[in-house]
Amino acid sequence: MSKILHCHISVRGFLGASDSELGRMLSSVMKPGGERFASVHEFRHALMDELAKGREALPVGEPCDGFDFKTGCPGHQVERPAPLSLPSAQDLDAVAAEDTARQRTAGTEAPAV
Ligand SMILES: [Zn+2]
Repeated sequence: MSKILHCHISVRGFLGASDSELGRMLSSVMKPGGERFASVHEFRHALMDELAKGREALPVGEPCDGFDFKTGCPGHQVERPAPLSLPSAQDLDAVAAEDTARQRTAGTEAPAV
């Protein structure tokens, strides 16, 4: 088992960004309805509104199970993915031998006319 954490943004962290930094973010940030913010001024006001509601953390996308608007994602236990395994040299030789046999068989077939 391992633990994953979903991303969130820090409202205070964003409010501490300069206008030019927030301006660069405008194209990738949307209002809850999916609309884009018209200006840095509107974005900054929306962040202040979130703080006024007591929200310190905002989810990136839909909030996950147990998302806390003060601390963010609580973390989730997940099954550890199986480690990658590369084929052995013997496996590769077997595949190459099959390919060679298939090509020989194909080569002996009479061409369709
Ligand atoms: Zn989460």
